[in-house]
Amino acid sequence: MSGGIPLPPERFAPSIANEMVHCSSGAIAGREQKEYKGRRHSKRRTAAMQHFLLSSAAVSLSIDDVASMSDAAVRRLVRQMRWPDTNGKPICPRCDHDRIYEMASGRLKCAACRRLFSETSGTILHNRKLPLRTILMAIFLWTNGAKGVAALHMRRDLSISYKSAFVLLHKLREAIGDARDDLKVGGVVEIDAAYVGGHIRPPNIGREGRRPAVRSRKQCVLTMVERGGSTINLIVDGETTEAVMAAVGRHVQPGSTIVADEHAAYNALHARYTVHRINHRWEYARGDVNTNAAESTHSRLRRSENGIHHRICGPYLGNYAHEMAYRGDRRRCPNGDVFRELGEMALMHPVSRVWTGRWQARPDGKQGDRKVDIRPLIWTPLEPFEPWRWAA
Ligand SMILES: [Zn+2]
Repeated sequence: MSGGIPLPPERFAPSIANEMVHCSSGAIAGREQKEYKGRRHSKRRTAAMQHFLLSSAAVSLSIDDVASMSDAAVRRLVRQMRWPDTNGKPICPRCDHDRIYEMASGRLKCAACRRLFSETSGTILHNRKLPLRTILMAIFLWTNGAKGVAALHMRRDLSISYKSAFVLLHKLREAIGDARDDLKVGGVVEIDAAYVGGHIRPPNIGREGRRPAVRSRKQCVLTMVERGGSTINLIVDGETTEAVMAAVGRHVQPGSTIVADEHAAYNALHARYTVHRINHRWEYARGDVNTNAAESTHSRLRRSENGIHHRICGPYLGNYAHEMAYRGDRRRCPNGDVFRELGEMALMHPVSRVWTGRWQARPDGKQGDRKVDIRPLIWTPLEPFEPWRWAA
């Protein structure tokens, strides 16, 4: 499995690998033929099809590869991610000079402006406290999560604080969102909207006099998916004509064919695009006229909320929506390629204005953290884990 750190096929350019790869193993083909002998379709099933994620191509990087890198290799890889155009040769972030000295401490110094800097200066990882290897491990673990990785999960994996994990993951999401900000889709584009986040309380049947049953803070995620291409998730005010026209005008190339459901918000699209409609009251697909790819994107976002994060706060939903669009687009790519691409996106992104400094600070000037009274444990604590006991 360990094939080293592979190079990305094409930086930030969306590409979808084939969903199925042909298995050329003669043994499997022979077994298939024997199994289906005597049936009508036996001659056609000469080769078994294998899902991409089950193929060896899906795993081009393992956790061992990242964990066993030497410190020099970690530094070299991070520099290659930061300065891919010069294959890792540092460039001064202030004056773009390329004569750089490396100090004994590992820091870099520009020969022209004498400024000291590091691999992460001026990037979204600016002012980092975590070691580079821990950050690479976090990126790797994030890459391998099917529906995402919870910050609490990563905190346990890497033995860092919850806050560090939470902020690092959101910095990665911000880098992904900004890298896809100007993304265009074309060809056949499916468009649909879903309401995500928040919680709708079940009705209080038979319990009159209580508070209203439905108090929703759900937000509208508008999704545009190019068939065989990339996905765009946007948070909009609602499934309205204004929101749809603004989003489509910005992200969908002229001359595209759009597939939408029967919602009236998409009526205005007929004036500018070729539009096919599918009425979900009667049918979900009429040949190629369906919005199944957009529905799948919503499904991934919902599963990520229900199964991984459990609750997505309103202000952060956009970040999660970008993350799930990216995961969907890269779901058939080797994990080493995604790791490399995500590292480049983070290290080529400028300093975050949201996640740097006093994030979540309250208007009254106090930190956003709430101080809660923690009750003392009343159960007997577990014995400390001592691995040498088990070795005997
Ligand atoms: Zn300089």
